[in-house]
Amino acid sequence: MKGYVFKGDRVVELVERDKPTVGPGQVLIRTKTSSICGTDLHVYRAPAATVGSRGVTISGHEPVGEVAEVGAGVAWPAVGDRVVGYHVAGCNVCKFCQLRRYKECPHNYSAPASDPQRIAMQENLDGSNGEYILLEAGLVLPLPDEFTWADGSVLVCNFGTAYGAVRNAFSFPGGTLAVWGLGPVGLNIVLVARAMGMRVIGMDVSAGRRGVAEAMGVEVVDGAQGSLTELLHSMTDGEGPDSIIDTTGVGSVHEILVPTVKRGGTVVLVGLGHNTSVGPVPQAVLRQVTIKGSWIFDIEDWQPMLEFVRSHELVDLMATVDKVVPIADFELAFEEADQALAGKIIFDWA
Ligand SMILES: [Zn+2]
Ligand SMILES: [Zn+2]
Repeated sequence: MKGYVFKGDRVVELVERDKPTVGPGQVLIRTKTSSICGTDLHVYRAPAATVGSRGVTISGHEPVGEVAEVGAGVAWPAVGDRVVGYHVAGCNVCKFCQLRRYKECPHNYSAPASDPQRIAMQENLDGSNGEYILLEAGLVLPLPDEFTWADGSVLVCNFGTAYGAVRNAFSFPGGTLAVWGLGPVGLNIVLVARAMGMRVIGMDVSAGRRGVAEAMGVEVVDGAQGSLTELLHSMTDGEGPDSIIDTTGVGSVHEILVPTVKRGGTVVLVGLGHNTSVGPVPQAVLRQVTIKGSWIFDIEDWQPMLEFVRSHELVDLMATVDKVVPIADFELAFEEADQALAGKIIFDWA
């Protein structure tokens, strides 16, 4: 089977591997689509000296495809089923994994590198940019026929992350939500929040991205201008938005989240950034601000999320996708995505 590996310094290698052997409790998926996500670009751009095991495992974390084989003891799925893969793997043993709450597993991606049990897709578990991907059955989720393979690519990461973030930020229908950063995740947040009847204010430094958000019917603010806090307050009767979701991960943005949100409001952190801090604490205490971290979506939210998309015509999963290209264009597409101005690019493996 073919697969794509990031060697660091923007070098991509097409490798030939044996098809994985399916063990008990495992599912082998034949890839139909894979895709480029912001986190993939971090690995793609990383200096070769720092990529470590990521320079060996197959890249990608958005598995979508058809079940090719199942191991002993797997009751669902069956060969031929359309599925996606949840990319936060766990140890499969701890009390959180028993409940499929892999995000809380102490050995998942968030574990320190020194943990010998640590398990992380793209690091010691092959990812989705390969002809096949082998996953534990607990990580596999159904993709109903009415959703295309490309829909699956959006649902399983960017849209799912957006849905999870809005769940965490939710104030009430008609409430005001500010979304900072209008990349693929930010724009999906706009879609979800608009469909939920919220007033949405989008912020980004890119005029192009603001234009896309504006076309979705939301107010936009140029993130490059100073005094964002005053501006947001002036747009909300001097109070600030009921909630703010940050997808930028940028330190200067993190610093003004607490002073900008409404008293008693909620700040949701989605963008990882580089060890920045959210401050200032006295304001968080005295303004009674809730601060939440939000990482993709909860597995039990998968079916309600599909129902939400089905029942809201406003939600167009392809709205944030630039194009679907043949997998042979992998390197070219990464060079393009590296410019950071495009929407999502999806690879067709058919
Ligand atoms: Zn992703
Ligand atoms: Zn676990």
